[in-house]
Amino acid sequence: MSARNWLVTAFGLVCVAVLAVINIPDRIPKVDLVERASQFAAALQSDAPYRPPTVREGETALSGLIPLLTGGKDTQSELKTLTPLGFTLTSGIDSTSGRRFTMAATQPGDEQGWGLFIGDYGARTRQVIEVPHPNFDLNTEILGVQLYRALPGSAVLIAGAHRRAANGTADVAHNANSLFNLVATELARKGLPQVQLHGFEDSSLPGTDVVVSGGSTPHTRLHEQMADHVEAGGMAVCRAWQQSCGNLEGTTNVQGQAADSMGTVFAHIESDGSVRMDPQRRDRLVAALAAAITAGP
Ligand SMILES: [Zn+2]
Repeated sequence: MSARNWLVTAFGLVCVAVLAVINIPDRIPKVDLVERASQFAAALQSDAPYRPPTVREGETALSGLIPLLTGGKDTQSELKTLTPLGFTLTSGIDSTSGRRFTMAATQPGDEQGWGLFIGDYGARTRQVIEVPHPNFDLNTEILGVQLYRALPGSAVLIAGAHRRAANGTADVAHNANSLFNLVATELARKGLPQVQLHGFEDSSLPGTDVVVSGGSTPHTRLHEQMADHVEAGGMAVCRAWQQSCGNLEGTTNVQGQAADSMGTVFAHIESDGSVRMDPQRRDRLVAALAAAITAGP
């Protein structure tokens, strides 16, 4: 091959490579993660079967989920580990934030209803966002994904069964054997702060829109900042370290108890229906929590 032909061929190969790189985003599907999470939550039923993972299943699931939730890029390995456990893996770009994510989800209604987990592909993880009671604490999955959108480096954990399923065994906030709890504990062990989103009936604590609590962990500057920002956003706040908040403090929450034993931060956020059912108030709550988390400890 002459030098000129060689150069033309090399130039052609470089062009093909550049085009391939440029085209990659086109091949990754755009997904509206709020819509996806809402559909997932809506399909969870209180009479569905459920069982927690065996010790071995839990260990295997963790070996696939922890890399996925902490920015891992080896989706083939995660796929190989998680698929036999009933997970479906999706890689995509969130249509609103434009960030690339990897998601692993079990099928609603499966006995192995272990969750929907979203990781920020290739990003350093900074916080864990938890939704333990989807389709019971209505719209908390929307709050969770909105908070993920506001905070790059988020790992999102959404329970994969209705809290009342299997006589309440599926309540991941009160079952230490749940995969949700295993994952949350493993991420807390890495020192990551957790924000857990719940909902309460307006009548349970009239006059209060949002309860900010540390669960069984000591309250920190983050809790104070969250309460300050939420109040500045026009919502009435109950600060669990200052007053009694109608048994909505989450003191029996097992993720909080694990965080307490490890000395990591855990924020238990309850919002009432007037916040969760109103898109504008939801936005304000998310913006307030995100501002507090971004400000740091
Ligand atoms: Zn709840």
